[in-house]
Amino acid sequence: MVCILAVDDIPDNLFLLQSDLEDEGYEVLTAEGGEEALSIVRTELPDLVVLDINMPGLSGLEVCEKMKVDEAVKNIPVILLSANAHDDDIAHGLDYGAHDYVVKPYQLEVLMARVRSALRLKQTQDELVIAYARLKEVNESLQTLATIDPLTSLANRRYFLERVAVEIERASRYKSEVSLLMIDIDYFKSTNDHFGHLCGDKVLESVSKSFSDVVRSVDLVGRIGGEEFAVCCPKISVDEVALLAERIRNSVEELSIEYEGNFISVTVSIGATEMAAQDNEASDLFRRADAALYKAKEQGRNRVVKMTAQTIN
Ligand SMILES: [Mg+2]
Repeated sequence: MVCILAVDDIPDNLFLLQSDLEDEGYEVLTAEGGEEALSIVRTELPDLVVLDINMPGLSGLEVCEKMKVDEAVKNIPVILLSANAHDDDIAHGLDYGAHDYVVKPYQLEVLMARVRSALRLKQTQDELVIAYARLKEVNESLQTLATIDPLTSLANRRYFLERVAVEIERASRYKSEVSLLMIDIDYFKSTNDHFGHLCGDKVLESVSKSFSDVVRSVDLVGRIGGEEFAVCCPKISVDEVALLAERIRNSVEELSIEYEGNFISVTVSIGATEMAAQDNEASDLFRRADAALYKAKEQGRNRVVKMTAQTIN
């Protein structure tokens, strides 16, 4: 139900105003002074305030002024009531952000038309607030969609490459280390062909989860392609990252992935490298990790091969 706060220091006026508004079907709260009005506004958050300007103590104008600088209540519209159409306070009130004014004694039709107009404004504003909140939610989920691989919840290729570029930039600025792993699931295609794509998805999910369980919280795991993953590891050398890779390899080897009564085992091949002084960009690092991964495949899969800028040739 729409709730209106009626404010007037003269009890007879207030009673009349209250009855007229109630006759129109509104729920009406009342206040006989500015202080009381302000406190009801803040606790009850009415949809509209019909506010007498001339009151002892805190005047209607001051109430309006205080409301309009208070973030929590500034969108509640105010209709000012004045005994004098030439009242300078009307202009001031409108300047302070009052929605409208009505001269007393008011004509019922005019007051109600203005009340309806103010309530329409309030409703539009409320709808905008809700629409804005929804928009913000949609934006956040779009942001997630843009950065996260939906199947594995790992960073997607684009976001991973972006983050690696940032890490490389940071590492060269602070002269610290950054290492990279490229990981490929061995014989994934034949698992897919044999058990079907849904099983393939299950394998990708389980393997991804074991990556996330093994890496450090500062490492970023990304899904780079179909069955190809990469891990960016700041502040560790190739030797340290090769140990991490070995733990990853081992944890995947120990997985027993249940799919429709079958227990499937998979292995991964991993190429490891670290950033070298002569690397100019992320692609240098990826090329070397790829070469190491290729070597791991060549040497029989299910293994880790490390390569540095010195050992590549
Ligand atoms: Mg008065």
